[in-house]
Amino acid sequence: MVVFDEVAREGHEQIVYGYDKVSGLRAIIAIHSTALGPALGGTRFFPYRTEEEALEDVLRLSKGMTHKAAAAGLDLGGGKAVIIGDPRTDKSERLLRAYGRIVDSLRGRYITAEDVGTTTTDVDVIRRETRWALGSSVAEGGAGDPSPVTARGLFAAARAVSDFLWDDDDLAGRRFAVQGVGKVGSAFVQLLVEARAEVIVSDQFEGAIKTAAETYGVKSVDVEDIHAVDADFYSPCALGAGLNQGTIPQLNCQAIVGSANNQLATDEDAARIAERGIVYAPDFVVNAGGLINVYDELHGYSKMRAMHRVDSIFEATKTILEMSKRKGIVPNEAAVMVAEKRIKDIGDLRRFRRSGDDRH
Ligand code: NAD
Repeated sequence: MVVFDEVAREGHEQIVYGYDKVSGLRAIIAIHSTALGPALGGTRFFPYRTEEEALEDVLRLSKGMTHKAAAAGLDLGGGKAVIIGDPRTDKSERLLRAYGRIVDSLRGRYITAEDVGTTTTDVDVIRRETRWALGSSVAEGGAGDPSPVTARGLFAAARAVSDFLWDDDDLAGRRFAVQGVGKVGSAFVQLLVEARAEVIVSDQFEGAIKTAAETYGVKSVDVEDIHAVDADFYSPCALGAGLNQGTIPQLNCQAIVGSANNQLATDEDAARIAERGIVYAPDFVVNAGGLINVYDELHGYSKMRAMHRVDSIFEATKTILEMSKRKGIVPNEAAVMVAEKRIKDIGDLRRFRRSGDDRH
């Protein structure tokens, strides 16, 4: 893979490779944009098969963070990091702290947080080497695990979709097919069950299904079948690219609202979904709850302020769906337009330096 060609394609600002021989750390940090503020995005610890695969993922995810932060109205740019390895066997204090020192060397241009394969406890360890890590545990004075907050944002988005489609934001009696009941998926299922929605789940990890069944009394189907379940909502809460040429023709739902990042395998998949008459609520709009929550730490964490902002995902989702209807464009395109307009308008304003802008 030719790195500069890859970077140039999406206009990334900076890519940093980090290595520590002792712990075996191999990390890539991608800063996509700092137009609106520091590039915030979690660290994914994943057993990528190749370096190319890891680079491709971090470039894609960091660009998504730029749009997510901009659409959520935050003063943040977009970045992301990946650590190549198996989090269950390769993670160590040395590795996390070595990684923390690399993050620190960027002096706040990139701010990290947890993601797939990393936890709030890992953030606590990383924070021993840098203050540019958010989402540390409550015991350490942080905002804690962002996943339940992401689920809260998803719930607000599902209500907005319901309001848009059926003029009724009550989810009672609505049927949801949830793919993946991990940290976000299970918290989302809890909110849905409390709202008296009907829920069917799937997970490749048998233990997660068992816990969901025992805790919430929900039924499950095989992982290959969840997207085709007859439901009002399909909620992808596992990994990305699940909405593709193969799965879209089999969808049996009215709307899609899920937490997974980059749910669409390609840009054309947004049109494929629209052609089927299914409303797709853009992933980066509906799953911003966790980001909003950790962002609040930058200002001295206030749960009330963070939750208030997360609940505004209801309005953000409705605005985008209405704009998409009005302009005759797919919701994803509407959301990207909203995000890019804000990056242009507010990013441009940042040319004017104020006193104190050099402080970090
Ligand atoms: P997680 O690892 O806790 O949960 C993912 C679950 O999906 C696991 O239980 C896993 O077994 C299951 N899974 C994986 N592949 C599957 C498949 N093909 N079919 C069914 N189940 C499958 O991760 P999470 O923190 O819950 O995040 C879920 C998704 O939401 C990820 O894409 C993540 O990037 C995204 N996201 C998470 C947050 C957050 O706050 N945690 C915020 C924004 C976006």
